[in-house]
Amino acid sequence: MSQRDKFSLILQELAKSGRQWDVCIPVSELADESFADLDAHSPLFTDMLWQGSLENHGEHFVLKGVWRMKVPRSCGRCNVEFAHDMSGDVDVICALGQSKSEEEQAELQLTGEEPECLADGKLDVLEVLREHFWLAWQPLVVCSQSCKGLCLQCGIDLNQGSCDCHKRVKDNAFAALKGFKFDA
Ligand SMILES: [Zn+2]
Ligand SMILES: [Zn+2]
Repeated sequence: MSQRDKFSLILQELAKSGRQWDVCIPVSELADESFADLDAHSPLFTDMLWQGSLENHGEHFVLKGVWRMKVPRSCGRCNVEFAHDMSGDVDVICALGQSKSEEEQAELQLTGEEPECLADGKLDVLEVLREHFWLAWQPLVVCSQSCKGLCLQCGIDLNQGSCDCHKRVKDNAFAALKGFKFDA
């Protein structure tokens, strides 16, 4: 069974006991053209750990679980490349076609969730995980909340060393003040 077949399911064929996963999914399995800007070969990438299940409730199916992985990103403050932790929950209700029983409608109203209708019953779990990955994507990330960033004057990485730009600005302001003539 290929990697992809493990995650491509047909709801009509799902066993009553459903499916469970506790697996590492290689980045190459998740990647598609939307990953174009990411280097899937970067050593900062880790596989996606996916621990989840698909429950068979007869008329509807619940895909639930958690995923986590590390992704190479550059820090928004100091520009350094680092492995950014990403994780998220999955909680998706799937139903076959459009028809729902009254009982099921009532149950879905209770949970406040609209099911995703799959007319052909084909569920691609990798596709769902890929979507959740991008939903969790933050445009700006920092290597650490305490990252000091770069000096705006000289560009030095303030996590690695220090400069006296800040002091110089203060000195200059003081010098300018000293030269100021106060006319009484
Ligand atoms: Zn940083
Ligand atoms: Zn500086």
